[in-house]
Order: sequence, then C-alpha cells, then structure tokens
Amino acid sequence: MRAKFSQEFLASPDGAEMTSIMRACVHCGFCNATCPTYQLLGDELDGPRGRIYLIKSMLDEASVGKATQTHLDRCLTCRSCETTCPSGVRYSRLLELARPMVEEKVDRGSWELIQRWLIRAIVPHRRRFNLLMALARAVKPLLPSAVRELVPPSVAPVAPVTDIHSRKMILLDGCVQQSVAPNINAAACEIFNQQGIQLLSFPKSGCCGAVSYHLGELAEAQAYARSNIDAWSTALEAGAQAVVAASTGCAVMLKEYSDLLAGDPLYADRASRISEIVSDPSEVLDPQALGRAYRAQSNHRIAFHAPCTMQHGLGVAGKAEACLRAVGFELTDVADGHLCCGSAGSYSLLQPELANRLLDQKVAALERDRPMQIATANIGCLMHVQRRADPEVLHWLEVIRPHRVGPE
Ligand code: SF4
Ligand code: SF4
Repeated sequence: MRAKFSQEFLASPDGAEMTSIMRACVHCGFCNATCPTYQLLGDELDGPRGRIYLIKSMLDEASVGKATQTHLDRCLTCRSCETTCPSGVRYSRLLELARPMVEEKVDRGSWELIQRWLIRAIVPHRRRFNLLMALARAVKPLLPSAVRELVPPSVAPVAPVTDIHSRKMILLDGCVQQSVAPNINAAACEIFNQQGIQLLSFPKSGCCGAVSYHLGELAEAQAYARSNIDAWSTALEAGAQAVVAASTGCAVMLKEYSDLLAGDPLYADRASRISEIVSDPSEVLDPQALGRAYRAQSNHRIAFHAPCTMQHGLGVAGKAEACLRAVGFELTDVADGHLCCGSAGSYSLLQPELANRLLDQKVAALERDRPMQIATANIGCLMHVQRRADPEVLHWLEVIRPHRVGPE
C-alpha cells in the first residue's frame, strides 16, 4: 500500500514534530540492547531503530502496510529505549503520533477491530468493568485456564480516611484500579494524611485516557482529558498543589495532557498546568517521615517490580524503593529490572504470546530470592504479575499501610 503525506502535513505541527524527532536519531542501535521485543524476537524491525525507520518510510511516501502495523503493534511503549538512547530521541511521542496515521491507512481484520472496540468500551468505564468482573468471577471455574488467570480476585474495599489539612492534592480516581484494587487509593489517603496532606477525590473524574491513547484513538483520549480537567478545575483554582496518580501508567498519561491538548485553546493552559504538577506518590512522600510513622518487622523481604512507566516514563526510579527501605523492608535483587513485564496497558490482551513470555521471565526474576510479597506501582503490572506469581502482589503503598506504629 502506498501512502501519500503531503508537504502540507510535513509542515504541520505534528509533521514538523515527527520530522524533528526522527532527525535526532543517529542510528547507533544502542536502544536495541534494552528493547524487550528486540530481545525476544531478534528482528531489527521489532526494535526501536527499525520502528523509527518504518515510520520514516511511511512519511517519506514509501509503502505502509500490514508489516508496519504489525511491528508497531508489537511495541510495548515501555520507553526502555528512551532511557538508553544517547541522543534523547522521543521515541514514544513519535509512535503515538504515527499510530493513528497507520490506523487510517491500513485495514485491520474484523476480529482485531472488535477486540479493540471492546477494550475501549469496557475497560475505562468502571460500572461496565465491574459488571464484567462479577460475571467472570461467577463462572471462573468453568473458564479455560488462559482466560481464568485474567480474572483478578475480588477485594473488600476499605473506606479512605483523611483529615482536613491546608496542604491539598487531587487524587486521580482512575478506572480499573478503583475496581480491582480499591485499597490502593485508600492507602494513599491514609499515608498522605499521616504526612499532613489531604488527598481530594473527584467522582466526576475517571479514566486518564491512556487506553484510548495507546490504541491510536486520539479524539477519545482528548475527551477523557477534558473531562478530568473540568472535574479538577475548581480544586486547581483553589490551590491544590499537585495531581497524584497512584498508578504510574496513569501518571505518565497525565504528563502527556500538555501535548494531547496543545491545539485546544480552551484547555491547553490547564492541560499544561496538570502536566507540570502531576506527581507519583514517591515524589511527594518523605522517606524519613514515613520511616518514623511506619515500621516493618526485620526480615520482611519484598521484591519490587519497577513499572516501565515509573522508571522510563516518569523517571522516578528508586524513589518508591527508598520509601520501602526507610520503613524497614528488605528489598531483594531483581535481575533485568529495566525490562517490561509484558502488561503495557491493553498489550497483554492484544499480544498475549509476547506478553506471557515477558511475564514468565519477570515472575522468575521476582521470585528468585523468595520474597514474602511483591510490590509494584502500577495497576496493569499488578494484575499481570499476580496472574502467575505465588507471593501476594500489592501496590507499595498497600504494603506500607498495615505497619503504622501509632500516632506521633
Ligand atoms: S533511537 Fe537513539 S539509541 Fe536508538 S538508534 Fe536512534 S539514536 Fe541510537
Ligand atoms: S518502547 Fe519498549 S518495546 Fe517499544 S521500541 Fe522502545 S524499548 Fe522496544
């Protein structure tokens, strides 16, 4: 298939941005060394340099077809390549701009379209997702094992508790996280409260938009972003200091709001403000203060799985681990900690074979030193790893929460 991209497109803001990102690449190939799909498949076109080449070929009016779509689909958007790249190539931004273009030019089979539509129609909507989970749990024993392991256990929610403080921050309610692991946000409220910060919850906010964004549905992602901005505007004007997202995948998406709504005169400024102040809990919490208020028993061994969105997306590697160590947990060594677990949003549903190979590698690395629990920082990773891990898998805030030593 031939695709024409006019000079007009190449001169447009998106075209100019894509060209500038591609020009930064010096084709050194260092990125291939840390790319999980290149490591698994050994094909240049399943590594970042090859994918940049495919996108460049598309824009240079070469052919764009099923092969381009397949190799871009196999990318986890884990951004490990960005951490490795010596030239600072913004690969993930290039990919997010390229995906909708490929979507427009290359047909998908009906089954793929249905799968993608179902994911977008169910996952970001808490009520629909809850209903699906309730049905799946009811028939779980009858499901084939590959489907059964996708159904997470149900969790009894604990009501979040907070006092009124002058320091206030907005807490992203989110979608799947609140359904599958409602106690993550409850733990965040309690721990922030202990540090004198009131987390504010806004029921009218919802999905951050990442599910749609990574499936190439930009308009839908923009609609989620606008809805969240509207829900938070009053609190932002009243002086809320940050937007806290307990799941690092959502935090990275909130960081993208400035790019996502840059062309919208009504929302661009507020979107930029949110991207500036979005924070992971590990950036806000003070490890020393945590260590005074919470105390783990000696020899409480934890394996920490650092999500790609935490280390490569937000660039806050090591901060959550510092909080856990300050509380007294012993952290095991986890080999190849820079590699993705295969969750990657909807990737585990759309690319199950690659996702499961990465999952098995990750679980083996996490379990090697026999931890008592596995801690992570993103709901997608948590659900994916708990499918095959023996120890309990929790968000790191949930791991800390039960170890309160009493009011200071
Ligand atoms: S993306 Fe970066 S690391 Fe990869 S080939 Fe280009 S310059 Fe080299
Ligand atoms: S984002 Fe991850 S999977 Fe995609 S090219 Fe970069 S390292 Fe490879």
